[in-house]
Amino acid sequence: MENKNSQNASGQQRTNNTNNNQRTSGAGTGTRISRTGERSVPKSKTYTPRPNTRRSTGSHGSHSQSAGASPNTNNPRPGKGPRNSSGKGKRNNGGGGRSRAGTTRSRNSSRTHRAIQKLKTSAEYSQETDVQQQRIIDAIPPLGADDIRVVPVCGVEGIGANMTFVEFQGEIIIIDAGFGFSTPDTPGIDYTIPNTTYLQSRKDDIKALVITHGHLDHVGGIPYLIEDLGFPPIYTREFGAVFIQKKLEEYPHLKDKVDIRVIDETAKYTDITDNLKVRFFGLTHSIPDSTGVIIQTPYGGILSTGDVRVENDNGKVHQDEIDQYAFLKDENILLMTCDSTGIPKGGWSISENVVVDTLDTIMKDADGRVFIGAFSSQVERLMEFMVSAKKYNKKIAFEGRSIKSNMGIAQQLELTNFDHMIPIGDIDNYKPNEVVVLLTGAQGEEFAALNRIATGTHKSIKFQNSDTIVLSASVVPGNDYAVAQLKNNLYKGSYNVITYSDNTVHASGHGTREELKWIHTQVPYKFFMPVHGEQYMTRMHAAMARRELGVSQENIVVPDNGSIIEIRNRGAELVKLGQKIPAPITVVDGSYVGPLHKVLMDDRKALHQDGMFVIVVSLDVKKGKLKKSPDIISRGFVYLRESKDMLNKVRNVAKRTVETYMKNRKHADFDEIKDILAERVTKELIQQSHKEPLVIPVVLGV
Ligand SMILES: [Zn+2]
Repeated sequence: MENKNSQNASGQQRTNNTNNNQRTSGAGTGTRISRTGERSVPKSKTYTPRPNTRRSTGSHGSHSQSAGASPNTNNPRPGKGPRNSSGKGKRNNGGGGRSRAGTTRSRNSSRTHRAIQKLKTSAEYSQETDVQQQRIIDAIPPLGADDIRVVPVCGVEGIGANMTFVEFQGEIIIIDAGFGFSTPDTPGIDYTIPNTTYLQSRKDDIKALVITHGHLDHVGGIPYLIEDLGFPPIYTREFGAVFIQKKLEEYPHLKDKVDIRVIDETAKYTDITDNLKVRFFGLTHSIPDSTGVIIQTPYGGILSTGDVRVENDNGKVHQDEIDQYAFLKDENILLMTCDSTGIPKGGWSISENVVVDTLDTIMKDADGRVFIGAFSSQVERLMEFMVSAKKYNKKIAFEGRSIKSNMGIAQQLELTNFDHMIPIGDIDNYKPNEVVVLLTGAQGEEFAALNRIATGTHKSIKFQNSDTIVLSASVVPGNDYAVAQLKNNLYKGSYNVITYSDNTVHASGHGTREELKWIHTQVPYKFFMPVHGEQYMTRMHAAMARRELGVSQENIVVPDNGSIIEIRNRGAELVKLGQKIPAPITVVDGSYVGPLHKVLMDDRKALHQDGMFVIVVSLDVKKGKLKKSPDIISRGFVYLRESKDMLNKVRNVAKRTVETYMKNRKHADFDEIKDILAERVTKELIQQSHKEPLVIPVVLGV
């Protein structure tokens, strides 16, 4: 990125020589940040462990079971109250506390809730998983003295949650600790993070966590993982350091324990241990201080590009790019791991300079206000927008938490001029053609600034007909529907809307095919391993290396999450072991951090599709008869007021089922009754409605 800034016509410049200790030490939040070489000693402060981790609280039930509602009210989520405050993932107590006319009998609801609480929970489920994982770890063969092990823990079977580690002679260095977001397979979860079970068992051997750049898919997992990893020192460039430190402010129990060491660009190699040293090198991505990393062993280096693109004009690579890779010709690189995210796109991407120039012209020509929706992660571009605004004597304001936060870091590090920044509340004090607003929500995110303004629900900003609205972003796969809705709302007005499909207002931070190919030619590696991306992307990347660059098949390895890759015999041979480290992803799901339970996800999908149906029977055990007609509580299944006939049929089925069971029996096995009841009721509901809600039977003995 250093190059990109220096080559831009806009004059935005930054050299690392201007970095100084004051910037980082001035942050003053308690997290220690030290310059390279200062080995700060962890403070021996007492520390309250994070509540609730590694403990399953979720449902283990099939449709015929229900788990106890979690009694757990601890909330390690950062900041500020329960998740529902964001409006996301609203939850209620399975209907137990609410009543809806014609369906819920409120006098039964608290009883039902208590009954559900009593049902068995699924604690044993995650214990089983732990035992299985330990068995997997025990089966991994020891590493030979002349061998290097490289393990992509996560980030090669889907975008996000990147983490790789390198091991040599009993010492481990981890590269990145990111998180990923929920997918249709993981409804309702907050983040996915790498599975660190293996690394936890090797905690004492972990010597460093090295960060390539401050994007969440590379650092977002730190608050959830750093304690489990034994608080290894974090080596990072400056922007990443401040980004991590800001994140940790939301986790007061961690911030005093985390040791962040800023690596200066001018530092060649930093010794981590006697055998392992680390070198950062500048490359181009989309956030300041993006770097590649070399972990050097006595037998050669492991190079990780992190996320990367190549500045070019129609395929002519900029001289600055050539310069920043030039040192590599003198390096002994055994293995290159390289970003695969951009591989599906052929050719070269447009230069970021083109995007900046396009926006510069839009700002120059605008008669009214300019609103630019952008990825908050593209900090370098946002800084260029600031330069353009300044050039045309416009004021600039930020709206949206993540943009404010990232630009706050840029301001703290004095990366560009912030003199013309104004609070968002002041934009009405200026003429329309003097105002530029950078805001979040170009992906149509429901609660982001852009969407709120577009739908008229923003507290202070309303679009005016003279406004220009630019979506300086592509559509991330999966967000198509949300972006279409956003555009529907934007185009309803008479504003001048400019998107990715109209003009060159966006370029990706991930190199396309030809850019990646060029990187391959700059790194004199022996072995190649594609990382970062969906599985088809890493495979495409491997195929490109083989077919188009002539890398031999035995020198390429395509990993899965947890694959154990070894470079054996002092760098001579590349081997992929049959074993893997435990790799199923870990999830952050409200206050829960632990394994992903498929059965819980299946329940959520079922609830999402067909809703839930609770049937409560009060059984007179002595007489073997129901005390009264069964009660029904349902949510999201059918519109109950229009379904009274069906409900009566189901009540009759339930009554008949239980009373038939009780005939000729002296004792009632409630678990058995519930199973039979669930099966019969489910069958009846499918027959009547052609839908299959999640059925929860509750049997009360009276
Ligand atoms: Zn990135």
